[in-house]
Amino acid sequence: MEWDYFIVGQGLAGSILSYNLIRNDLKVLVFDDPALPKSSTVAAGIYNPFTGRKMVMTWMAEQLFPYLLKFYKDMEAELGIRLLYNIPMYRPFLSLEEHNEWSIRLYEDSYSQFIERILSPQEALIQVVNPMGGMMLKMSGYVDIGALIRGVTDFLEQRKAFCSERFSYHKLQILKDHVQYNGHSARKIIFCEGPSMSGNNFFSWLPLNLVKGEILELELQEPLTYIVNRGVFVLPITKSYCRVGSTFDNQDLSWEVTGRAKTQLLHKLDKLIRIPYRVIGHSAGVRPASLDRRPFIGLHPEHEPLGVFNGLGTKGVSLSPYFAQEFFEFLEQGKPLIKHVAISRYFSLYYNKF
Ligand SMILES: Cc1cc2nc3c(=O)[nH]c(=O)nc-3n(C[C@H](O)[C@H](O)[C@H](O)COP(=O)(O)OP(=O)(O)OC[C@H]3O[C@@H](n4cnc5c(N)ncnc54)[C@H](O)[C@@H]3O)c2cc1C
Repeated sequence: MEWDYFIVGQGLAGSILSYNLIRNDLKVLVFDDPALPKSSTVAAGIYNPFTGRKMVMTWMAEQLFPYLLKFYKDMEAELGIRLLYNIPMYRPFLSLEEHNEWSIRLYEDSYSQFIERILSPQEALIQVVNPMGGMMLKMSGYVDIGALIRGVTDFLEQRKAFCSERFSYHKLQILKDHVQYNGHSARKIIFCEGPSMSGNNFFSWLPLNLVKGEILELELQEPLTYIVNRGVFVLPITKSYCRVGSTFDNQDLSWEVTGRAKTQLLHKLDKLIRIPYRVIGHSAGVRPASLDRRPFIGLHPEHEPLGVFNGLGTKGVSLSPYFAQEFFEFLEQGKPLIKHVAISRYFSLYYNKF
């Protein structure tokens, strides 16, 4: 066979999956249309072991976090570019009860591996609104997703494995054990189109739950050396530049920025930091989330040469390395996928469609 895999889409999902397959000695041809919007280039790229307002531990954090740190470090070494920025994350407390709760959790192994220290009200940080103190987390930071995608495009181009074009679904020929497209053949094709998956009839039955998000760019008048996160995140990129986000909107799914989101972000920001700033940029994107907030991974219920790697939602940076490897082991070694990510959990939706 000419190729082992065709991959459609080179956002974060397609980049990590194709890179991982090639690192495992497989022949991969990637199609990506630069004219389509990418969730990945809007994303802040933050990884954080705790999630949401209640700071619940991120699903599978104990497996995902050690894995992702090594994965991106190895990728940096191979591609020769900086990708991983390990930055502590500060979360101010809102009450003394919260301070006390986390002071106790600090002694539980599952939490302590992610907490650097708890700050009492007396130790509150000057740049942050934190009269009740807060906690400094470790194993947090961000991945420069733009650099990662450019690095993987170069990596693919060096191997003549990249087609900068829109993939036309109607030209795909599906045979029993392979597919053909524009004169090329591959054992399998894996779709990684992010939010555009709804336009792919082979997988549009999967319940995508798109969520728009907006991010501001700020010029800061003094440097911040940690991420601040409470209601909104403030992510320092350089000494004078940071990103602030994000909003969550599942009604307006356009890729346009809105004044409403800007006002909402600035309102939360002013209650969080004490550093003077100036807004210098604003962007919007759509997250490819799933109904149950778990990725979509697996092969089509009827056409075995077709697969999908999508539904990374708000956590593409932390989910994609670990699950790209799990998908490889499923595809090439027959290891079952865990039921939470396998698309077989939604096969009833496919069969009910007909
Ligand atoms: C505002 C915002 C903030 C975020 N912050 C974070 C964060 O801090 N941390 C985090 O982990 N995640 C974050 N995310 C989520 C993250 O962006 C996603 O999880 C991830 O980027 C999804 O990647 P993807 O490759 O699935 O989709 P995309 O990045 O959208 O890529 C899909 C690709 O498929 C291509 N494509 C689609 N159809 C075709 C076709 N027919 N032919 C050719 N190419 C095609 C598109 O051109 C695109 O390049 C954020 C998202 C948003 C919107």
